[in-house]
Amino acid sequence: MTIGILCEPSYESRVSLLPGNINQLKKHNINVAVEAGSGSKAFVSDEQYREEGAEIVSREEILKNCEIVLCIHPLSTEETSLLNKDAVLIGTYFPLAQNDLVNSWTSNGLSTFSLDMLPRTTRAQTMDVLSSQANIAGYRAVLMAALHLPKYFPMLMTAAGSIAPAKVLILGAGVAGLQAIATARRLGAVVEVFDTRPTVKEEVMSLGAKFIEVEGAADASSAGGYAVEQTEDYQRKQQERISEASVKADVIITTAQIPGRKAPILITEDILEKMKPGSLIIDLAASTGGNTAKTKNNETVIFNQVSITGNSNLASGMPADASKLYGKNVFNFLQLILKDGLLNLNFEDDLVKGACITHQGEIINDRVKQSLKDQIN
Ligand code: NAD
Repeated sequence: MTIGILCEPSYESRVSLLPGNINQLKKHNINVAVEAGSGSKAFVSDEQYREEGAEIVSREEILKNCEIVLCIHPLSTEETSLLNKDAVLIGTYFPLAQNDLVNSWTSNGLSTFSLDMLPRTTRAQTMDVLSSQANIAGYRAVLMAALHLPKYFPMLMTAAGSIAPAKVLILGAGVAGLQAIATARRLGAVVEVFDTRPTVKEEVMSLGAKFIEVEGAADASSAGGYAVEQTEDYQRKQQERISEASVKADVIITTAQIPGRKAPILITEDILEKMKPGSLIIDLAASTGGNTAKTKNNETVIFNQVSITGNSNLASGMPADASKLYGKNVFNFLQLILKDGLLNLNFEDDLVKGACITHQGEIINDRVKQSLKDQIN
């Protein structure tokens, strides 16, 4: 069994697995082949991979010969067709609503695992790439905001005058949002938070932030902890509360997502028009449409003197630790699907079944099946 690690596209600095995990794989009779230069943007050299027992090879060799291929982002259709028929592809592909991608896997008879589709259960935590990377995104979003805001975050009393603390509004208190709260608080900002899940109120308050209450949220208890779509009445009340908090805010960090759907617009054009000149928004939901009316993914847009940065890949900007955590998630997942150096797929296991999108060309994942059906109808 050989596991291949591929170089990521030019916009990505992370790598699927760092040298530190290779030794442990070798002990289980698993060879590792690394495309030359894979770790360079995460400051890991080919030599470091070699020292741990990996072989440095060409991209083509990995595509054609490896039984397991690791790449964070999807391959092109052309490269997908080069993969060995029995190959297993592992990465973070967000396959819901991505018909073309899933179709390319089925037509090539591939087995694919997308780690973002793992159930969010306690047992899955060590493999949960969404959490490990969202944590980084929340942290970096606040640092970016602090760097670009034309004023201080902390309150200051100086001989030259007093400075009021920055007001930060965080929309969505999932993993990214909670880390954003903690980081903004450490920098001395006053933080307000809104989430449709009332259960996060306590966590938000324990981090020293104020929770904005809106009555009448839809019950999300059957959605595995994720948010669900809300009624029109709730959305109207929510808009009012968000509008009140937005006009006072210096910084807004938005993280609100609903898996498989377009992100909700929480900051409308009307709210943007009322916001303070010089205030800024970092929108982590940009890749699924964004939480503001003006977000553009991977761009900074200025509207009415408010700067709106859309970026859902902030973890890539901290590639050393992001790769370390992502690689550990991948390593833990490999332990689940390998036994005595061979592939051992147990589809009775909810983690294996949940993360598996296709197996030998057949769609396994129920949510992906449903999503394909919904798009056809
Ligand atoms: P996410 O990225 O899917 O969404 C971010 C946040 O946005 C969520 O808290 C969501 O409730 C909120 N949101 C959605 N629509 C909104 C709206 N209209 N207005 C305001 N907020 C809105 O979330 P995530 O960080 O990936 O976490 C999703 C869930 O999974 C959470 O319940 C989290 O606690 C849970 N989780 C469980 C585990 C585990 O047990 N293994 C690990 C991580 C996360």
